[in-house]
Amino acid sequence: MKNELADRVSAAIRDVPDFPKPGILFKDITPVLQDGDLFNTVIHYFCERYESLNITKVVGIESRGFIFASAIAHELSTGLVLIRKPGKLPYQTIGVDYSLEYGTDRVEMHVDAVQKNERIVIVDDLLATGGTMGAGIELCKKAGANVVEAGFLIQLDFLDGVKNLHGVPTHSLIHF
Ligand code: AMP
Repeated sequence: MKNELADRVSAAIRDVPDFPKPGILFKDITPVLQDGDLFNTVIHYFCERYESLNITKVVGIESRGFIFASAIAHELSTGLVLIRKPGKLPYQTIGVDYSLEYGTDRVEMHVDAVQKNERIVIVDDLLATGGTMGAGIELCKKAGANVVEAGFLIQLDFLDGVKNLHGVPTHSLIHF
């Protein structure tokens, strides 16, 4: 199933050059969402992967990670946790700073979002340098969670982002 689905998703993804800045080839996943059968099949693919792992929460990273995490959480009847950019969450937060090519950024989550030893998966649309997911994993570990897997729709292998994921197992539907 994986190869056939990966081919369908690869064909649907739209490359947008120089977005949001010059030199970046943006992988636009909106055509995948617009195709009801394809979106549904992608969600079921990840649910089949996670359904026997005793996952209690699916964690999504702002913003496209939310789309996949919420659909998977809904299907598996687990909780959903949001990791957001600074200042967006209304209650008390814990956060992790991480480096960008120029400067730093930060991700936050509510202090009570995940419990100690809770089995979670973290989901985002795309793994590039791994800075974002690396910080998300650190944040979940800081809260005491057991991060079972980091799941992505797309992985850009040439950026070797896996090295920033603290040894957490990774799974991506497609690789470029
Ligand atoms: P990184 O922290 O470098 O791994 O970047 C991952 C985050 O940035 C993800 O949340 C992606 O949605 C977004 N991102 C990075 N590069 C791209 C790209 N080429 N196309 C689409 N989204 C990207």
